[in-house]
Amino acid sequence: MKEITPRGEDFSQWYLDVVLKAEMADYGPVKGCMIIRPYGFAVWEHMQADMDRRIKETGHVNAYFPLFIPKSFLEREKEHVKGFAPECAWVTIGGGEELEEPLAIRPTSEAMICSMYAKWVRSWRDLPVLINQWANVVRWEKVTRPFLRTTEFLWQEGHTLHATEEEAEEETLRMLGMYRSFYEETLAVPVIPGRKTESEKFAGALRTYAVEALMADGKAMQGATSHNLGQHFATAYGIEYLDKNQQRALPWSTSWGASTRMIGGLIMTHGDDSGLMLPPRIAPHQAVIVPIPPRKGDWNEQLLPKAREVAQRLRAAGVRVHLDDRDQHQPGFKYADWEMRGVPVRLELGPRDLEKDQAVVVRRDTREKTPVPLAELPARLPALLEAIQRELLERARRFLADNTHRVSSWAEFKELMATRRGFLVAHWCTDARCEAAIKEETRATIRVIPIEGTAEAGECVRCSRPSPGRVYFAQAY
Ligand SMILES: [Zn+2]
Repeated sequence: MKEITPRGEDFSQWYLDVVLKAEMADYGPVKGCMIIRPYGFAVWEHMQADMDRRIKETGHVNAYFPLFIPKSFLEREKEHVKGFAPECAWVTIGGGEELEEPLAIRPTSEAMICSMYAKWVRSWRDLPVLINQWANVVRWEKVTRPFLRTTEFLWQEGHTLHATEEEAEEETLRMLGMYRSFYEETLAVPVIPGRKTESEKFAGALRTYAVEALMADGKAMQGATSHNLGQHFATAYGIEYLDKNQQRALPWSTSWGASTRMIGGLIMTHGDDSGLMLPPRIAPHQAVIVPIPPRKGDWNEQLLPKAREVAQRLRAAGVRVHLDDRDQHQPGFKYADWEMRGVPVRLELGPRDLEKDQAVVVRRDTREKTPVPLAELPARLPALLEAIQRELLERARRFLADNTHRVSSWAEFKELMATRRGFLVAHWCTDARCEAAIKEETRATIRVIPIEGTAEAGECVRCSRPSPGRVYFAQAY
């Protein structure tokens, strides 16, 4: 059997073992470029379909914009280009000839999309513009890790225009809420929504919001971001329209994105020493049937036909079920293999089960085994999958609560960051220099300034100067 490094021994190696051995992804020939293998891609497709539905339900439509962005386009918004230039990849030769103007491979599409909006938007009747695209982007990364930080990754990026600041802010928060629901309902990953500090916000944004999740090793992962871009991009790209009074006006824009890095967060939230643990809603196989061959005789006579029949009835009940009829492997190997791949439920079907007209249902999360009459499976399995989905979220919520600490002393802050980590909720004076010093000393950054609950004034955890409220600190991926 393939070995997986225990999480407690080396979390980072455990993660890589799981990604590679569960065949989620493999390394490509260019550093930082991964191949998403069919099993990993099936997970992505389920995530994508679910999020796409949510994006459309909130009134957005999909479109596709080009991969190449002319250098001059990217340079129009000064903060934006400053932020992205260090990680841009450029095309300078095409068809064997030096290009007149270098082309950036999109690191994000504000420049491209806003340039087109300048052409399309004329009147207040054209607003709001609510467009999303599913695409790949490239950001030249020095240190990479499959899914979590890759040079090329897949994502969705929404780009919207609104008549007022209020509407733009509403949209920014609506999409932050969409990400939160997606994480909690679909990925069973609880998140903390909040605003980013000035030093952590998106290049060119007025305000950046994010949802942050806590991984099993006590480090945070930024799950998705939503930006109110103010009128910066409308100004830089010349997006103007005539308002209801026939006056020239600048729209307010937003952008928001979530990427394949969500898969990394999913793995690090739910996985264990046996491998992946996939929430039923995004599991490529929600249940796998493992037939146990009779000691004597042929499984083709009775066992396999029965297993196929069970699979068919479960499919008709809406369960994504896979029948493992590989004859070169023993059942024990298959159990471990599907556990490693995180399939939520395994159905064991042997000759003795057939005699009793039952299957043994085994949960991946609790490993609980229950014999269930075959006739009851189509009714009971969907309910069981829902229960597993719910319990995974509850378990992750307990972990989040157990690893979120209110801290008021600097000594305790340093001690915790050096040992258990987790989210440290502490007062901060709002000074960027103090934020930088905290990062320097503890490698912790401010993940978010919470937007829920009421802020309570206090004293900065490091410098004791006045603080308007507590913020979430963590070391982050
Ligand atoms: Zn301070």
